[in-house]
Amino acid sequence: PGLTPDRSVDSVCPFCGVGCLLTWHVKDEQIVGVTGRDGPANGGRLCVKGRFGYDYIHHPQRLTRPLVRRAGVAKDPSIPWRQDQWAEVFREASWDEALALAAGGLKSLRDQHGPKALAGFGSAKGSNEEAYLFQKLVRVGFGSNNVDHCTRLCHASSVAALLEGVGSGAVSNPVRDVELAELFIVIGSNPTANHPVAATWMKNAARRGAKIVLADPRRTELARDAWQVLNFRPDTDVALVNAMLYVVVEEDLIDHAFVAQRAHNLQAVIDGVQGFSPEAMAPICGIPAQTIREVTRAYAKSKGSMILWGMGVSQHVHGTDNVRSLIALATLTGQIGRPGTGLHPLRGQNNVQGASDAGLIPTMFPNYQRVNNAEAHAWFERFWGTPLDATPGYTVVEILHKAKAPETDPHKIRGMYVMGENPAMSDPDLNHAREGLASLQHLVVQDLFLTETAWLADVVLPASAWPEKWGTATNTDRMVQMGRPAVAPPGDARRDLWILQQLARGMGLDWRYEGPDDGVAAVFEEMRQAMHGVIAGVSWERLLQADSVTYPCMSEDDPGQPIVFTDDVPTDDGKVHLVPTSLVPGNEPPDADYPFVLITGRQLEHWHTGSMTRRSRVLDAVEPLATASLCGADLQRLGLQPGDALTVASRRGSVTLHARRDDGTPEGTVFIPFAYAEAAANLLTNPALDPFGKIPEFKYCAVRVSAG
Ligand code: SF4
Repeated sequence: PGLTPDRSVDSVCPFCGVGCLLTWHVKDEQIVGVTGRDGPANGGRLCVKGRFGYDYIHHPQRLTRPLVRRAGVAKDPSIPWRQDQWAEVFREASWDEALALAAGGLKSLRDQHGPKALAGFGSAKGSNEEAYLFQKLVRVGFGSNNVDHCTRLCHASSVAALLEGVGSGAVSNPVRDVELAELFIVIGSNPTANHPVAATWMKNAARRGAKIVLADPRRTELARDAWQVLNFRPDTDVALVNAMLYVVVEEDLIDHAFVAQRAHNLQAVIDGVQGFSPEAMAPICGIPAQTIREVTRAYAKSKGSMILWGMGVSQHVHGTDNVRSLIALATLTGQIGRPGTGLHPLRGQNNVQGASDAGLIPTMFPNYQRVNNAEAHAWFERFWGTPLDATPGYTVVEILHKAKAPETDPHKIRGMYVMGENPAMSDPDLNHAREGLASLQHLVVQDLFLTETAWLADVVLPASAWPEKWGTATNTDRMVQMGRPAVAPPGDARRDLWILQQLARGMGLDWRYEGPDDGVAAVFEEMRQAMHGVIAGVSWERLLQADSVTYPCMSEDDPGQPIVFTDDVPTDDGKVHLVPTSLVPGNEPPDADYPFVLITGRQLEHWHTGSMTRRSRVLDAVEPLATASLCGADLQRLGLQPGDALTVASRRGSVTLHARRDDGTPEGTVFIPFAYAEAAANLLTNPALDPFGKIPEFKYCAVRVSAG
């Protein structure tokens, strides 16, 4: 009874891309509980993060005043700090002083070294409006396209392959289409941990008779509901999927009418899969040839088959090839363009789809208009009323390489603005990334907490959490959904749209998005125009009423299109561009010195770099320790019991964690979540990039494991 709320506010979950609608319950200006709403993606369901991961916003470590680095305090990339030592490094400042220093430092670097000396990391944890305004600030205010966000670290290779193949980087069918599918493949994904409510729809579908094919090097929880579990060897995705394509060709499971009408380049794929017979690939990928044949026949012949994938597919140096092969599999068999079919890259963060749509990427303006396309470039110059850079900017990993470039490099990055990202935890090869951040002449970080990245900043701006502001987010299903403020930001923390506009003004831009909540509706309406019609029917007023509208939505009376590619795809000629693939080995295979394969990822209770969920009481109580998962046989060989300390080392660094037994992790493989600063998995990871998506190979590098 003591927790009877004073008010309840409808909003959307701040964590994963499933996009569950929920209600915050507020008492005495604190959120005290959360309930699920009957949203189109969740039907009232929430996972443990959505239900219990709200109290981080009230954590005593919230930043409530701007901070400025004390004169003479060096930036130490080894980050050996404790939160309670912050006053030794920073002093509190007024907003006027902090904004003047933040904008002044960026402006003077731009004026002295040119626009390409600056870069910006935006965030998929922020709203569409924040993403739009952030990329506009970098393009218009900084003057270059050096703007990126965490999509580079999760699905950049998926987007590269999808844009090339089907002309759109978004999903073709929503998650809940699994309820209409006869069979669906879940590959490189652990949805019970990473998209938990989506996993519940998958399990429901299985119980109604749908066949799940779970393909992943690790045997994860969804295996209990799967018809077939294909624990293929790490790094052999193309071997497995091309073997399926071989069967499609050899057994003539091709939907010839569909391909003739809807695709190019069939012959190149047919030629490309010669040599990929299941019998030839079985020793490589570890899946028996007969199983590959059986699964392929079932996939191709069902009335509706769907493919959903996660970062186990995308985070490889051959991530784009992995997705090209999946596109070919769906297209050759005609399993696309209908309910219960299609391609669904499961998006990670709550707004990674929307942040990408809004142009928070270095190669494209909003709605994937290429910056080096003359027509698109001219349109945005007219729209924003200013000259724009026409060359693609650097991506996340490239930017931190450029921060360490020699003084003579004309493209050396010297100043950066980071909003809501934590590259000092999320980038690969953290020792290198942290040195890059520490070497910047001017770093401005806007966040909720003094994150590992903020620790290296010159100016830290206290920002607002998701339940403290208005904003829209676009989930993995292309649903644009309304977030509402339940409580005010604490102390002197400010809404991010306000901070963005103040910084823009400090850099000479007269931005005034008027209206309540720092003009969020005005920013949305400008973004709607910049999106070239794709959300033309999604007005702010409509969202206030409906809470969730799926795009494409071309007019106010368009209900939105959950399933796309029904008649054609949005490529130049409306046809799928098939691209053959070959076997590209991982960049750093295990060897005698580093005999284990490291796979990094998330776990159910913690979100990304842990800055929010490790400050949520319930979630941190459930998973308080950094762990490394190995199978029982490997633990025994190493003389380890569950809970023992162990050290995992790669050529780039080492971490000490607690051993966890997980017999779903294959022998010779170790899995580490990347949420723990005290044992940061990315100290180990390899910065090698996929050449197309520029995504690092987080899912495969060589490590050694030892007791103690
Ligand atoms: Fe939030 Fe994702 Fe969990 Fe839904 S499934 S409650 S969106 S974390």
